Amino acid sequence: MIYEIIIIGAGPAGMSAAIYACRKKLSTLILSKDIGGQTAKSWEVENYLGYSLISGVELSEKFKEHLDQFECVDFKLGAEVIKLKKISKVFEIITKTGEKYQGKTVIIASGKNPRQLNVPGEKEFWGRGLTYCPTCDAPLFKDKVVAVIGGGDSALKATYQLTKIAKKIYLLVRDEKFRKDLDKILLENTTASDKVEVIFNTSTIKISGDKFVKALEYENLATKEKKKLEVQGIFVEIGSIPAVEFCKNLVKLNQGNEIEIDEHNMTSVPGIFAAGDVTKVIEKQTIIAAGEGAKAAIAAANYLSRQKQ
Ligand code: NDP
Repeated sequence: MIYEIIIIGAGPAGMSAAIYACRKKLSTLILSKDIGGQTAKSWEVENYLGYSLISGVELSEKFKEHLDQFECVDFKLGAEVIKLKKISKVFEIITKTGEKYQGKTVIIASGKNPRQLNVPGEKEFWGRGLTYCPTCDAPLFKDKVVAVIGGGDSALKATYQLTKIAKKIYLLVRDEKFRKDLDKILLENTTASDKVEVIFNTSTIKISGDKFVKALEYENLATKEKKKLEVQGIFVEIGSIPAVEFCKNLVKLNQGNEIEIDEHNMTSVPGIFAAGDVTKVIEKQTIIAAGEGAKAAIAAANYLSRQKQ
């Protein structure tokens, strides 16, 4: 079967695209490793239209319930796409387990993956005290001393979340002060807690322990002094990398490896569209990803009807 639209990813962009594709009565396939993407890993989502506050898991479930009302979608959960290529007039997608799917159009909504520190001990202690997912793992650190690494909104959010659980939180920021573009309310709430100790000018150099994490070593970038913090948990929140491995040689990317799109969400390859955090769209927010997914599906539907004429 050749689908009219194949959507890669089931975060807010992918699910919203699928709903709009169904409204246009197009045969649609979603291929995704998981449901909800980064939204499902968010402890709380604030100000998604209609909800002043909702957990990321609950919001993702609501997206899925909404999508389930439509019958035109085939949903392959657990599918990891490893290759996207153009064969004559159709696109072929290959998954890690070797399945092949063909579509007349594709919407890439694969989101981003967490950036890693690449320091000794990181791989070894991943899942043994070191985590990239505060929402999943913060409850494991009740009354413990932990470190959060990063200076963006994600690091602030993780730290704020941990103020309700952990005993003490070191927030290790690489810059010499907080960035000006941070969410002001989040910054105020996070730094107001006396459980939080912010350490600027830090570069993590090593993570150590035995069965579990026991310490983190960092260098003070101003003084070059090396220090060790005794911690039982480490939350790495240093941004994320677009999930473009499967299409990086096909569609044009910008310098940050985000997919270049035009105002109709079309990539450099006609028939391939992209939406959400994997694209160059500036604000990475659930509500924006959902809107972008809708736009991409409408554009793909218009593209298909032009092809038929
Ligand atoms: P960002 O890219 O905004 O921030 C990444 C941070 O990690 C920077 O402070 C960066 O430091 C630091 N960093 C990068 N590499 C390293 C390293 N090797 N060691 C130490 N520090 C490092 O990513 P975020 O995930 O924080 O945010 C992504 C987007 O999502 C943003 O647009 C943000 O606003 C949005 N967001 C919004 C939230 C909200 O509640 N409104 C919550 C979470 C995210 P440096 O500056 O030195 O490069």
